[in-house]
Amino acid sequence: MSDVIKLLPSHIANQIAAGEVVQRPASVVKELIENSIDAGASKVQLVAKDGGKTLVQVTDNGSGMSEIDARMSFERHATSKISTADDLFQLQTKGFRGEALASIAAIAHVTMKTKRHDAELGTELINEGTKIASQEAVMCPDGTTIAVKNLFFNVPARRNFLGKNTTEYRKVLDEFMRVALVHPEIHMTFHHDGEEIYNLPKCNTRQRIVQLFGNAYNERLVPVNEETDIVKITGFVCKPEFSKSKPDQSFLFVNNRFFKDRYLSHAISTAFEGLVPTGKYPAYFIYFDVPTQSLDVNVHPTKTEVKFEENQAIYAFLRSAVKQALGQFNVAPTLDFDQEMSFNVAPLKKGETVNPPEIKVNPDYNPFVSTELPKTSGSTSSNSGGGMRSNGFSDIKPNRKDWENFYGDLEDDQEEQHTEVTISSSLDEDLVVERKKPVQINEKYILSTVKNGFILIDQYRAHVRILYDQLINAQVSNEVQQLLFEERMELEAMDLPIWKEILDDLNALGFDLEIEQNELLIKGQPLAAKDMNPQQLLTELFESYKLSESDEELDISHKLALSLASGMAIKGGNVLNSDEMEHLINELFASSAPQYTPRGKKIIETFTMEEIIKRFS
Ligand code: ADP
Ligand code: MG
Repeated sequence: MSDVIKLLPSHIANQIAAGEVVQRPASVVKELIENSIDAGASKVQLVAKDGGKTLVQVTDNGSGMSEIDARMSFERHATSKISTADDLFQLQTKGFRGEALASIAAIAHVTMKTKRHDAELGTELINEGTKIASQEAVMCPDGTTIAVKNLFFNVPARRNFLGKNTTEYRKVLDEFMRVALVHPEIHMTFHHDGEEIYNLPKCNTRQRIVQLFGNAYNERLVPVNEETDIVKITGFVCKPEFSKSKPDQSFLFVNNRFFKDRYLSHAISTAFEGLVPTGKYPAYFIYFDVPTQSLDVNVHPTKTEVKFEENQAIYAFLRSAVKQALGQFNVAPTLDFDQEMSFNVAPLKKGETVNPPEIKVNPDYNPFVSTELPKTSGSTSSNSGGGMRSNGFSDIKPNRKDWENFYGDLEDDQEEQHTEVTISSSLDEDLVVERKKPVQINEKYILSTVKNGFILIDQYRAHVRILYDQLINAQVSNEVQQLLFEERMELEAMDLPIWKEILDDLNALGFDLEIEQNELLIKGQPLAAKDMNPQQLLTELFESYKLSESDEELDISHKLALSLASGMAIKGGNVLNSDEMEHLINELFASSAPQYTPRGKKIIETFTMEEIIKRFS
């Protein structure tokens, strides 16, 4: 019998290896930009099409390559960056395995134009699935352009595995941002599908963050600085009230590389403890510098994990550095989220009693017409950025007139008292007496007696259910209320494609919106939400939509209806009078599924007499 072991032909070996280096367009972006930076470029331009599936092109003004180097660069294990094994432990550059270009060329159509600064002519190389189809001398600018087209054209299984264009786009953008955040000294641009997404001139780190995430960040950033023998920590954290509902602005870098590390992220979370409500993630941009020998950069090219020799010490330094930064800027003591969630009531002095307030109610008030209920005047308002608080409340001043409509001619000073006493004011009289009016508890739940006990209703969730049903069944007409003054809202680049995707559906729901470059032009909003602040409503709607984006059970229009309902619904923390509560209860029980929100969260909790009696036994 003849021998059976054969060497794989090199193009197959390359395709297999390519799978390790290149998973998706974003991996190509990473490899190409890193090569440009290693080549000493001061300007790097990224162009992508269809989320990078059709084209990823990187142009730099770096060293360029000679004709021979250009050809060599596509060979596996061809690298100019290490020549001895020792070099591996002293790495200053990003690449070193000499695999990226060989791998990319095995699974895409690659064109390279490159010219050294001292050469008269450059070289153009066209590479089609491992073999070089042509090479010729051309006129071209100094530096290198590499265009990668039709990724995975010869590996259909991988191509099919790629996400939607918007998904791939966002990964490409992530990669671009990660590099941009460590190289503010490089002028970087990004165009996608013919549109300029970013043009970031050379600057410093703080300015780069602002370039990427918007001017609002100027006020949000708090510097972090700590230097010890083993590590230097620099960077910024965002003030706690600007925490995100997704951890998508949590960046760690070590020696100019992005990395992920749950242990160190935890150090930051604990420094923020008590300042950020559950479910929110602090935003941060933290840069570590450590001696290269003390760092194990996992030699797998695509992995983002690293291992510090002094992990525990670094954890402690990081935590204290962040705490100190928050303390120094007086961020920590001024915030109290528990307080923000409810009305701000001064603590009782010893011996002081509170009189139940008399609340005169305007029976014409309809909570479903005007859902923007104001907060009391005493609540903390330490954030200067305006707009949203991290708990979803706005710090927009209450509309005095609405408030007056709501309470009839309520006196000012009564406003401040009613929270503490909502239960006692009606428990004894109303509940026990035959009419059994509902009672509000903690401005969040509605207690209503039923035949065999009582139920607690989550007021916010109940209202979401009601509004959602109405929106879906078009009971709330999707008539547009045109704004007196058009408003403009700056959109974050990473969100832009999502806004584009949902724009038509939003307009179908009663908005009148347009996108102009990176701004949302707000011309009208649903009549049913006419008294709400349009930017706040859209921001809340969008945040909620993003969270539900990956949910496969609902289609876009249902998700948007749900997000709009969530934005419009009366939040916890708003006082309701008994008419409003009864109205809410009636509508809830008339809805399609009173027990659960469209997302399956419990709206009603029942307490039976048996349970209650048991508790007293
Ligand atoms: P590595 O970066 O690990 O060395 P690559 O396959 O990414 O391996 O690149 C191979 C070689 O091609 C690099 O070592 C470098 O010499 C050269 N090269 C690649 N991209 C560029 C570029 N944009 N400018 C100059 N040289 C480049
Ligand atoms: Mg490389």
